[in-house]
Amino acid sequence: MTSFDSLWESILDVGREPATGGYRRFAWSSADLTLREWFTAEAQGRGMTVEEDRNGNMWAWWMPAGWSGDPRGAFVTGSHLDSVPDGGAFDGPLGVVSAFQAVDIVRARGVAPVIPIAVVAFTDEEGARFGVACVGSQLSTGALTADRALALRDNDGTTLADALRDAGRRPEQLGPDDTLTDRVGVYVELHVEQGRALADLGRPLAVASSIWPHGRWHLTFGGEANHAGTTRLVDRRDPMLPFASAVHAARIEAARHASVATFGKVRVSPNGANAIPSRVDAWLDARAADEATLAAVVEAIRHAAAQYASDGHVSLDFDAESITPIVEFPDAPRLRLQAALSRFGEVPVLPTAAGHDAGILSAKVPTAMLFVRNPTGVSHSPEEYAEIADCRTGAEALADVMADWVSR
Ligand SMILES: [Zn+2]
Repeated sequence: MTSFDSLWESILDVGREPATGGYRRFAWSSADLTLREWFTAEAQGRGMTVEEDRNGNMWAWWMPAGWSGDPRGAFVTGSHLDSVPDGGAFDGPLGVVSAFQAVDIVRARGVAPVIPIAVVAFTDEEGARFGVACVGSQLSTGALTADRALALRDNDGTTLADALRDAGRRPEQLGPDDTLTDRVGVYVELHVEQGRALADLGRPLAVASSIWPHGRWHLTFGGEANHAGTTRLVDRRDPMLPFASAVHAARIEAARHASVATFGKVRVSPNGANAIPSRVDAWLDARAADEATLAAVVEAIRHAAAQYASDGHVSLDFDAESITPIVEFPDAPRLRLQAALSRFGEVPVLPTAAGHDAGILSAKVPTAMLFVRNPTGVSHSPEEYAEIADCRTGAEALADVMADWVSR
């Protein structure tokens, strides 16, 4: 049996940026393709059948002895292998590595599954390259249409369709996966915690209660390019000013609504140090405990941004790029997970403000999540961390859940 540590270390160099220590594992990049080869090798090394579905999601199947025909009602576990720009090592890969490790542990215990088991790696969860998160799971559930996905462009202007073609895939295959509801009996995603709740509670593991509703909005402030030296202040139509005010408004409104709102990406045109910009494109990420609060905080930010734009004689477009409703994980799988984890003592039930493929899939199949303690709470950063002992505990816990589920 491969140890957790050696399995974990086997991907630590892939897509790592030496200058920052962070990961740049973007969808269909060479790092992504290397990780797909790693996934295939790990699956084949375990005698699992590997399949890349029509949307690029990777599946590794362990079928019960004597099973004939297509998989049905499987216990599916995994996560994603891609990262945000200069992301950490754990967000995503911990769930895939733990899934393979859980398979090893369950086998070493001599469990003979009576229902199929799959390890899955969903494609492009972070949306770092093409701007839309959970592309693979959203395509499979039908939440994202193939036409919209194929037209997405990265910062170099490459469409997803071209990126797929360059990677030797067939973009015309993209679309809803009609086999999903038959094949997946439950999807359990193990993930590094993206907060400090478990550290505060002194517990290594949690199960998820819900995912906050969240979304991304694209703001375009349109002004007039001009000389930074010769243009009088009163004559300027400078889109940077209402943008800056909107950033402050987002912070104020988020605090007022007990939610979070962030401008983390901005593009300035023409981006010259001595030129008043003609245009500022900015992306707002907002999340709240419920959908009414999310709508209220985004409307308040939109209202403030429109007022600042109007005061500065600047145009404003405010478009929703994606809005993900609240996900309440169903009681039945969660209660069964908690019962299977009784040897780990109290396992807290926590909400998360981060999106996950498990949230997308929950529209079609039963889902549950396990979180592994993150001592600092930092995520989407090279500083993201979990103790290796907690990671091993997570894999053991996932193995207990798997063994319980497939032995009925
Ligand atoms: Zn993740």
